[in-house]
Amino acid sequence: MIQQEILSEIQKYDTIIIHRHINPDPDALGSQIGLAEILRASFPAKHIYQVGSEVGDLAWFGQEQVIADDLYQDALVIVTDTADTPRVSDDRFTTGKMLIKIDHHPNDDPYAKINWVDNDASSASELIFDLVAASDGLLTVNAAAARMLYGGIVGDTGRFLYNNTTPHTFQVAAELIKQDFDPAKVNNQMNSLTLAQARLQSYVFDHLTVTPAGAASVVIPQTTIQGLGLADDEVSAAVGTPGRLAEVQSWLEFVEKKDGTYRVHLRSKGPIINELAKAHNGGGHPLASGANAQDQAEIDEMIAALAALVETYQKAGQNG
Ligand code: AMP
Repeated sequence: MIQQEILSEIQKYDTIIIHRHINPDPDALGSQIGLAEILRASFPAKHIYQVGSEVGDLAWFGQEQVIADDLYQDALVIVTDTADTPRVSDDRFTTGKMLIKIDHHPNDDPYAKINWVDNDASSASELIFDLVAASDGLLTVNAAAARMLYGGIVGDTGRFLYNNTTPHTFQVAAELIKQDFDPAKVNNQMNSLTLAQARLQSYVFDHLTVTPAGAASVVIPQTTIQGLGLADDEVSAAVGTPGRLAEVQSWLEFVEKKDGTYRVHLRSKGPIINELAKAHNGGGHPLASGANAQDQAEIDEMIAALAALVETYQKAGQNG
């Protein structure tokens, strides 16, 4: 079993360095720092590190550590929640002795020596809990780790709203909240907005266009982001906003970057959108993906493609 292979590698190494993806979300941080806390609690003599770029407004999950390059030479490196190599935060992940990937995105890039990828898992955090469960007491979850993993699961399931939430997800969450942390506080932290983020949500509702079949899109210009005084990573608070509307099936959010190109967030309640993301320099899950658009022409192309996708889906539903 692949979990046993991973556990045996963990036992072999004195230094274990855990990476996550760039622009970390709660699951990237929850799985990475949760695993780090589990390994620290389970093996006090080992040296466990969590690295990556700064975490911005999710700093309550924990901070990255700044470590020297030479620590990698005898290290086991584990990358969590990261589908492909360009998205791994901190390039040094290839310089360890052994590399393990633990992820729940489509395994288009099996970049590690051991790749444990389960698309059916709600989150990488759920997989970290499964690793503990498979370890026969070798690994232990303490309250700090449970809080991280719970936060990751809440993040990637939209507080158990999305269809990646399974009976197993609830079982894992139920086990985690037996630990001594305050899950309601985590839920509130995940749900809280700054006033600027709330105003960004107003902007999204005000500027959203929606086709009759329910394909929605909005462009958020840099001038708006800067006018509200938002850091780039705070804009993600508005990614789920169009989905609150009953008439919206799938949506695109184009967030202008400082270089004038756009980061695209694709979300859906049914129609599959990750092929559209792949066609525009991106990828991700069937109902939650990210992509890039160079200019207005590419934005228009993506909006037209989504409209067609949603219409086809709606017609198939009416026929079926
Ligand atoms: P985001 O819209 O950035 O929150 O991303 C949604 C999902 O798509 C996440 O699970 C990401 O891992 C994935 N994703 C985002 N951007 C990319 C990309 N450029 N390439 C592949 N996957 C991506």
